[in-house]
Amino acid sequence: MLTVSFEEASKCPRCDNAGEQNALVRNVKDGKLYTFTCRNSACSWFETDWVVQRLEDGTVPLRETTRERTFAPIPGMTQEKAIKALKQTADDEERGLRGR
Ligand SMILES: [Zn+2]
Repeated sequence: MLTVSFEEASKCPRCDNAGEQNALVRNVKDGKLYTFTCRNSACSWFETDWVVQRLEDGTVPLRETTRERTFAPIPGMTQEKAIKALKQTADDEERGLRGR
């Protein structure tokens, strides 16, 4: 399982600023759930909360929200364009395989 540090997970998935940890902490089966709020008024997640699950060993399993950072949205990319780009990549790969 991919994990990140608690410090990394406490940063806003959108703007990477450190989030404000809320008082709300919930105990779960294999750790604790913490909630953070983005206080960066320039961020699209301003005043938005996200949840961080910290396991007993202090690590944080990589979740959907943190994964988005690795796959940051590309400006101007529409779903249509994305599908086209994916098809193009598949075509290129096929051509590359045939060329070998
Ligand atoms: Zn933010």
